[in-house]
Amino acid sequence: MKSKYWLIYIWFLPVLLLTGCGVGQQGIFGMDESGDQVYRDADVAMGTVVQQTIYVDNTCDNDKITDDIFVKIDQLEGELLSRRLEGSEIATINQNSGIKQEISLELAKILEECLQVSKASEGAFDVSLGKLILLWDIDSWTRDSDGEFVVPSQQQIEAALADSGYEYLELEDDTFYMPEGHTLDLGAVGKGLALDALGDMLQEQKGVTAATISLGGSVLTYGSKPDGSPWCVGIVNPFDTQEQLGYLELSGDWCVSTSGDYERFVEAEGRRYHHIMDPATGYPVENDVKSVTILSKSGLLSDALSTACYVLGVEKGMELAKYFSAEALFVTTDEEISMTEGMYSRFFPGNHMMDINVAEE
Ligand code: AMP
Ligand code: MG
Repeated sequence: MKSKYWLIYIWFLPVLLLTGCGVGQQGIFGMDESGDQVYRDADVAMGTVVQQTIYVDNTCDNDKITDDIFVKIDQLEGELLSRRLEGSEIATINQNSGIKQEISLELAKILEECLQVSKASEGAFDVSLGKLILLWDIDSWTRDSDGEFVVPSQQQIEAALADSGYEYLELEDDTFYMPEGHTLDLGAVGKGLALDALGDMLQEQKGVTAATISLGGSVLTYGSKPDGSPWCVGIVNPFDTQEQLGYLELSGDWCVSTSGDYERFVEAEGRRYHHIMDPATGYPVENDVKSVTILSKSGLLSDALSTACYVLGVEKGMELAKYFSAEALFVTTDEEISMTEGMYSRFFPGNHMMDINVAEE
């Protein structure tokens, strides 16, 4: 590892994804300096803020493209991914655990990729942790009558872990089986795989020249901006989420996903518990990682790897990212940033003074 200390003060450029539109605005339409038309829109979907900027030329015949994007996200959540929404494929599979089930080819492909990440990460990433995730109640961190979050008991954690394990999932073409009581949770890949589906949609829509869509901690860049300037994707500083750690300059099609302990957490018994689980202990991961950002051509991989690398920590996480030809950036509790060379070549730091380590190839 070689180390760089940044003394240069760099003004942080406003992040493209956060400019030009506010939450709840619908279908803002205008002209880019180059003459291309641009739609900007923001709303809440999949339980998070979604922001879109879509550039179209005059062959585009769809002035409702941003609405179509929201419809697609809602459809993915309602019909495929949601654990809670009755009728989604995942909810149905969970109800039918213990039985061999026929699943959609779309889900079979997703599960196959998830299993590859589970195997390569030796189980650090595991979509069968549904019971444990339900036990920790990370969607709502429900409090008791005294307003306290009650930490699950060791016994409850062990019972939930006993009903999990990617190695028990059986997938053959479109036939899926998991033992009775095991529960799938695709929370770690949902946003990333949605970006893949949205990228396909943009590809199929005539006249879309470029776009960027941000879905919570995951961002898609598509095509090249009409003025030829690169996409700028901001990365949150996990020590102060109002600030940017820096930004990535990207050209063309990419997905960037970040997992961090600041995203969802609760304070209880004088400690902080967050939403990324260590399958080895059944507790939220306790290591020196604050956040992980992954850059990949695949949304699913970027999202799965951000979670997996968070669990694995810097050293093993770097290896995992490289195995999948992805770029990684870790922020650790000692206020250091460690990243792969491919990430470093695209990274512009914000106005913090953290040490930067670049992993040699
Ligand atoms: P992310 O924010 O992308 O890291 O995803 C975190 C979400 O993935 C959590 O809210 C859980 O639903 C789920 N999750 C937590 N820990 C794991 C894990 N070790 N493997 C797979 N999914 C997990
Ligand atoms: Mg993830």
